[in-house]
Amino acid sequence: MTVDNIKTDILILGSGGAGLFAALHALKANPDLNVTVASKGLLGKCGCTRMVQGGYNVAINPGDSIERHFMDTIEGGKWLPHQELAWTLVSTAVERVRELENEIGCFFDRNPDGTLHGKAFAGQSFDRTVHKGDLTGIEIINRLMEQVWARPVRRLEEHRAVALIPAKDGALAGALMIDIRSGQFRFVTAQAVLLATGGGPTMYRYHTPSGDKSMDGLAMALGLGLPLRDMEMVQFHPTGLLAGPDTRMTGTVLEEGLRGAGGHLLNGAMHRFMADYDPKLERATRDVVSRAIYAEMKAGRTTPNGGAYIKMSHLGPAKVAKEFKGMVDRCRDCGFDLAGGLVEVVPTAHYFMGGVICDRDTATECQGLFVAGEDASGMHGANRLGGNGVANSTVFGGIAGDVMPHWIANNPGHRPPDPEALDFEAARAEHPFSRQPGDLNALREKLLDTMWDDVGVVRDRAGIERGLAAIDSIETELLTAGVADRDRRFNLTWHDWLNLRSLCEISRVIALAAMRRENSRGAHYRSDFPEPGDLATSTFTVARQKAGRIEMTDAPVLFTHVKPGETLLRDPIAAE
Ligand SMILES: Cc1cc2nc3c(=O)[nH]c(=O)nc-3n(C[C@H](O)[C@H](O)[C@H](O)COP(=O)(O)OP(=O)(O)OC[C@H]3O[C@@H](n4cnc5c(N)ncnc54)[C@H](O)[C@@H]3O)c2cc1C
Repeated sequence: MTVDNIKTDILILGSGGAGLFAALHALKANPDLNVTVASKGLLGKCGCTRMVQGGYNVAINPGDSIERHFMDTIEGGKWLPHQELAWTLVSTAVERVRELENEIGCFFDRNPDGTLHGKAFAGQSFDRTVHKGDLTGIEIINRLMEQVWARPVRRLEEHRAVALIPAKDGALAGALMIDIRSGQFRFVTAQAVLLATGGGPTMYRYHTPSGDKSMDGLAMALGLGLPLRDMEMVQFHPTGLLAGPDTRMTGTVLEEGLRGAGGHLLNGAMHRFMADYDPKLERATRDVVSRAIYAEMKAGRTTPNGGAYIKMSHLGPAKVAKEFKGMVDRCRDCGFDLAGGLVEVVPTAHYFMGGVICDRDTATECQGLFVAGEDASGMHGANRLGGNGVANSTVFGGIAGDVMPHWIANNPGHRPPDPEALDFEAARAEHPFSRQPGDLNALREKLLDTMWDDVGVVRDRAGIERGLAAIDSIETELLTAGVADRDRRFNLTWHDWLNLRSLCEISRVIALAAMRRENSRGAHYRSDFPEPGDLATSTFTVARQKAGRIEMTDAPVLFTHVKPGETLLRDPIAAE
């Protein structure tokens, strides 16, 4: 096994909203730095920022305020968010949206008076979701991509990071990568590294994130011994498209704005069931609506493919076709008429609130390692508001880009990697070449079902125990399964194997954290502990790998801005 070496000042892992914003800000802070962006796919063409549909939350219009956006975020997060991170998110989103428009070149939809149009999103007290039609992410990522291309950023496309490698003193030395095209190992030494691989809970039967995402960043952080927070918090989006088992379109999301605009959900008996679960009906938060659909599914009141229907036609097919063109086109491509008919939907794993613990400036416990976007944790607590995801990645990606040059100025120099750690990780990545070929597809299918059935929308102790046992056995089988093709060039079976290993490692942590939290908050619902527990003494879970075992602890949530039962809004009636 040989390893090529590359040296850079800043290495950014991931080319989504977080990664590209970090690159632009880092070069702005110090144009003399050598900045490298590495990503599993092609720059600007991979990850989930491109897939953003509904839009970007920002308190920018008259009548709204940062305090109101903050209160929605904290209450939506069921009092579990790290309040300093949440405050940074909502306050910096204002400058970031201006930057997106005035410096990056995005055009968002406007009201007749020229102000930015904000659409209604569930769980929010103000229509603040700024957007470009219903395909906002394409506008954001295309413009970001153009800006990055116009600058001297080194691109390592189709490069997969497999491990974060420390120096002997414990600070980060760089990342071990595989050049997917050649199959060659490449070690990138960097003075600062940003982890921005975007989470991606693709271990569930139904899921929305892009296929390149398999929780690699969190698996790498776990391997480095970093603490991970809120790992039980997997967000299910209630309206994943249900197009049958034979298409990858099943699970892809139909945006929240459909419910925000007045869409109805019906069960297989054509009953509009949300009234049986929540007075906010279809505009209840994602967790509530997902559980309601799941309950209808469990009760057998399903549509032909086993889900529920979304109905928009009562709003007027022409209006729906105009306002939700992207969604209508997507459904038509799969043979469904969203504007005038019924479309089958199912809850789908969408977003991961858990992640690496970091400070407000994106620094982690490991010197030289920073984290931003969906790999980071704390901003959303138990529930992410629709529209706060892309705000999170662009806000904190930009902050990381501001901070890393300063960090380098104060801690100059490249650190040599610990050679033992480097050899160990390269051998771990090569493991499947030393085994007889196995059936990876069967293992993936088992994992998808295990996580959906036992650690999914509704959980209990018996199910989680079953899930943990199944994850252990899937991982054991995976370690005995090799890849048939020994040619490493574009060996996608090898990468499937590596994806599965990351997914197994993080699935176990999700299950252990779900076991640890014996109450129900937001996205985490335990049918054996259905109450939320005392909000004033809220804790969050922390997972850390030590000597090959996952250690789970809890830590208290600090109410640094507002306590449960209080509000930052001056007029309590307006807080309704
Ligand atoms: C269908 C869909 C719709 C959404 N709609 C909205 C919305 O309307 N509003 C909203 O706020 N949020 C939305 N989100 C969530 C939002 O897209 C994400 O929260 C956000 O874009 C994440 O940004 P990121 O930069 O952290 O990661 P991403 O944009 O996902 O980028 C991750 C990058 O990491 C790379 N990567 C992964 N693994 C590795 C590895 N091992 N080595 C190297 N590179 C790696 C990927 O290739 C990719 O380049 C949506 C998500 C989906 C899936």
